[in-house]
Amino acid sequence: MSAPAAAGSNALTIDVEDWFQVENYKGVIRRAEWEALDRRVVRNTDRLLDLFAAAGVRATFFVLGWVAFRHPDLVRRIVAGGHELASHGYGHARVVTLSPMAFRKDLRAAKRLLEDIGGVAVRGYRAPTFSMSPGSTPWAYDILAETGHAYSSSVFPGRHEGAGSAEFAPFREPRSGLLEIPMTAVRAALLGGRTVPASGGGWFRIMPYPLFAALLRQVHREGRQGNFYLHPWEIDPGQPRPSGVAALPERKHRIGLHSTEARLMRLVRDFRFDRMDQVFAADLGGLPAIGPAPLRTAA
Ligand SMILES: [Zn+2]
Repeated sequence: MSAPAAAGSNALTIDVEDWFQVENYKGVIRRAEWEALDRRVVRNTDRLLDLFAAAGVRATFFVLGWVAFRHPDLVRRIVAGGHELASHGYGHARVVTLSPMAFRKDLRAAKRLLEDIGGVAVRGYRAPTFSMSPGSTPWAYDILAETGHAYSSSVFPGRHEGAGSAEFAPFREPRSGLLEIPMTAVRAALLGGRTVPASGGGWFRIMPYPLFAALLRQVHREGRQGNFYLHPWEIDPGQPRPSGVAALPERKHRIGLHSTEARLMRLVRDFRFDRMDQVFAADLGGLPAIGPAPLRTAA
């Protein structure tokens, strides 16, 4: 039997991109090569959809425009499953490397495409590799608001990818008023008060499960809600191994791939999870209407 569900609820979020689009492989896989590589994002995301349906849990899927353009049926299956459709931008360039104009173009392209395919409003955005913050890219929040997004979930407390933020709880970026829902981190008493990510991805694959669960329970004791993320490729141990990757990035990418699916399902049994727009509805100013709804009439 699994442990009883913890009192706090948590957002379950999936960043829908493929194994070759990660920052770790940027040095060995050029963007121009993406098209020809073994695409695994559809089967891996479908696997997650099946697992979530069986577990009766809903999630938020931050879908990359590049993926949505090539696999519109996958986007429709996400919406049909009762999940929240959100944006991971179009081309997966780190926000700190983009001009405001390039960022606006990337955001618009992704949002329009996802809404046209999914038939639902896209309210949320997650920056590639959490590469923005009020301090490093304040203009990014203005542009998110201007392009019709209601929230971002794009920053890590502490230093991260040239961005990061001091805030642990959801906050309104002062200039734009846009809601930022940071990734979960805790000052871990177990680790001498150090700030430790407790939000998924590589850290979830590396940490012993009981430690991760203990950190998440600390989040709830502090009166916060968790914000968990994973990529479809993180449950896929059969993905190709590109040559020329240095030992450390290769280890970082591949560690725990065999056991992540089982750990993820243990996590959703042990804790309560739901879509981001449900878990953080109070911060967003009310519960959203769920379900496919026409966005615009034909013009
Ligand atoms: Zn990403």
